[in-house]
Amino acid sequence: MAVQIPETLLSALLQGEKFLIFTHVRPDGDAIGSAFGMRSFLLDQGKKADVLLPVDPPARYLKLGLDSLREADSNDYDTFIALDCAAFHRIADNGVLTNLADKSRFFSLDHHFTNNVDCAGFNFVDSKASSACEVVSALAFQSNLAFSKQTAEFLLTGMLTDTGGFKFSNTNGDVLRMAAKLLDKGVDFEKLINILFFSKPERQLRFESELISSQIKVACGGKFAYAFIPQELLDKYNFSLKEDEGIIDLLREIDGVVIAMLVHKQEDGFKVSLRSKDPRYPVAPIAADFGGGGHLMAAGATVELPEFSDLEKVFLEKVSAVLNG
Ligand code: 5GP
Ligand code: MN
Repeated sequence: MAVQIPETLLSALLQGEKFLIFTHVRPDGDAIGSAFGMRSFLLDQGKKADVLLPVDPPARYLKLGLDSLREADSNDYDTFIALDCAAFHRIADNGVLTNLADKSRFFSLDHHFTNNVDCAGFNFVDSKASSACEVVSALAFQSNLAFSKQTAEFLLTGMLTDTGGFKFSNTNGDVLRMAAKLLDKGVDFEKLINILFFSKPERQLRFESELISSQIKVACGGKFAYAFIPQELLDKYNFSLKEDEGIIDLLREIDGVVIAMLVHKQEDGFKVSLRSKDPRYPVAPIAADFGGGGHLMAAGATVELPEFSDLEKVFLEKVSAVLNG
């Protein structure tokens, strides 16, 4: 079923005049696309709208033209919107939402089935939607208000990145129909595809090549591929982990691999990304076991363990249990 935004939510949201928009930490294409798509849609309506982005977004998205704030004062706004955020603690809010006493005009729009942003005045989750961008697009079209080519370009961005260019299992007729309607707004599709999928810096490709040749391990009879990104490799290629979107897909490209895992070290533990190629073996429950979440076929968690070898042992057990279950 195509995304249906409740009319009560739609009319309450559009009553706002001054909007502050948030998305999740470590923003990806859907986070960026939905936040800036929503902002652009609201600007199209003559409203005030800002995106609060406390960190630099991945470099490839800068070409889309991202005008955002590093800090904001909640007193300057009457409406607050979080997009693509599954959990309150994952909203990159710089404390603004946390300190907002009255959350009745806080809207959360999301597509993660693990969503638990229950403190929002309105929390809308459609876990069948491919992307938060599909949810925002539904809202924009349902409003019957006109919107610009730029809004459509942002919204198409998250649909393209969250579906891997319409390759992943979250691709269906609804998202393709929505994408077609956005394209009809005059989006320069070739330019957008080049930005999103064909703009890798040369050193990133070299980094990925060495990661693949030196770090990939395959286990569980060829069904589980995983890699740990060592700090030395990041230093060697001056590669920042905020640019890592899509790297895990290199592991799932391997024939026969069902579950892929990419791990790197963060200050608060190991960041684990998981992907599945077969709905019989979902990865969300594995991430949930470690306090993480996401989607059935794409999930993540932060895991506190002393060494990667400890994590490797635990995940080999978990993943083989899923694959053999
Ligand atoms: P990624 O592996 O690209 O970081 O994330 C895959 C999916 O899982 C995304 O939808 C992301 O929002 C979600 N995700 C990643 N890490 C976490 C986490 O620690 N907690 C929750 N709740 N979701 C996560
Ligand atoms: Mn998303």
